[in-house]
Amino acid sequence: MEILVINCGSSSLKYQLFDMEREAVMAKGLVERIGIAGSRLIHSCPGKDEVRIEKPLESHKQAISLVLETLTHPEHGPLESFEDIDAIGHRVVHGGEAFARSVKIDSEVMEAIKRNIDLAPLHNPPNIMGIEACAEILPGVPQVAVFDTAFHQTMPDYAYIYGLPYELYKEHGIRRYGFHGTSHQYVAHRAAALVGKPLEELKIITCHLGNGASITAVQGGKSVETSMGFTPLEGLIMGTRSGDIDPAIIIHMLNYLGMTADEVNKMLNKKSGVYGISGVSSDFRDLEQAEEEGNWRAALAMKSFYHRVVKYIGAYAAVMNGADIIVFTAGLGENSDVAREEVCKNLGYLGVEIDKKKNGVRGKEAEISTDSSRVKVFVIPTNEELMIARDTAEIAGA
Ligand code: AMP
Repeated sequence: MEILVINCGSSSLKYQLFDMEREAVMAKGLVERIGIAGSRLIHSCPGKDEVRIEKPLESHKQAISLVLETLTHPEHGPLESFEDIDAIGHRVVHGGEAFARSVKIDSEVMEAIKRNIDLAPLHNPPNIMGIEACAEILPGVPQVAVFDTAFHQTMPDYAYIYGLPYELYKEHGIRRYGFHGTSHQYVAHRAAALVGKPLEELKIITCHLGNGASITAVQGGKSVETSMGFTPLEGLIMGTRSGDIDPAIIIHMLNYLGMTADEVNKMLNKKSGVYGISGVSSDFRDLEQAEEEGNWRAALAMKSFYHRVVKYIGAYAAVMNGADIIVFTAGLGENSDVAREEVCKNLGYLGVEIDKKKNGVRGKEAEISTDSSRVKVFVIPTNEELMIARDTAEIAGA
C-alpha cells in the first residue's frame, strides 16, 4: 500500500510517500513560496539525486500537480503512475471538539473542518486547500484527515476549561484544545515499546521542544493535560511565541501602549519567546553561540525557557501523581544535550538521573537515564508523517 502524506501551510507544502509494507519513505520533499515570487520544489528519493525545480506556483493545486509529476517522473520519481497512490493523509491542525481521532474525508467532514476555521484561521484554510486540490487532481483516491488536536480530546473537562464564564466555552468553543497531538502520541507509544510495558500502565511526560514547543501528560495512553491551549500560543516560552503571560498584559498593551490588536497578535506570535527576550535569534544554536560570546540576554532567554520546561514537568508529575517516563523530542529535544541536562538537573526530586555520556546522543532513539534512575528518560525523534501514514492506511484500507 502506498500512502502520500501531505502537510499544507499557508505558502508551503511538505510531502512524504510511504510504502506501508515496509513503513519506508519512498520519496519526500517540500514546496516553498506558493503564491510568492521564487516558488520551488525540493524533492529527494532514496538512491537518487536531489531535485530542485524552480517555477511559478500560484496555488496549492499547482504545487500538488508538480509534486505528483515529480513522484511519477521517469528519472526522479519512485512511481510509474498516479494510480499507484492508494490513499492520501493530510495533517489538519484544528479538529475542535468534532474529531477525537483521524477520519476519512467526505463532505460532512469537510464542513466540520471549515467550521473550525474560526479556531485556527491561519492553519485550517491551507489544510482545506490541500484536501480540495487532491480531490480535484486525484478524484476517487481516499483522503484521511489527521488532526493535531485529536489526541488531546481525552483531557478531562476540569483540565480543558478556562477560568472564564462558562458561556464562552458553550457558545464560542473557548477551551484548551492542545496541539502537536500526533507527535505526543507517537513518542508516548514508542516510549512504552522501549520499556516493554503496556501504555495503559504508564505515566509519561512528553516534551516536544522545537521552534513550537509543548508538553503533555500522558496517563494510560491518554492525554490528560497539555501546555498549549485554545491556540498554540499558550504554555512554554517558544522560538518566537510568548507562551503563558498574564492576560492583563494584553489589555495594558492595547490601552496604555497604544498598540492595535493586530500588533499585539504579531508581537506575541512572531517577536516574543527566546527571540524576543534575547533580541538575537529564535534558534538555540545561535543563542548558545551568543552566550559564549558574552551575550547575557541570550543566556537569560535560554534560562527562562528551561525554567518553564522544569515548571511544566513538575506540574504534570503532580497532575498524574508521579511519572514513569520523560521523553524529549523535536529539534531541540532530539539534538541538544545541553537543553536536556539543564532541564533534568532540576528533576532529582522526581527520581530523574541522567547519564552524561548517554545524553550525548543526537537525533536518535536512546535512553539517557542511568540504570538506577527511578524515572526513565528517552530521546525519541518524532515522526508525525509516519503516524499520519499509519492512520491513513488503516482508515482507507478498512
Ligand atoms: P523544530 O521546530 O522541531 O524543527 O526545531 C527547530 C529548533 O530546534 C531550532 O530552532 C533550534 O532551536 C533547535 N535545534 C535543532 N538542532 C539543534 C542543535 N543541534 N542544538 C541546539 N538546538 C537545536
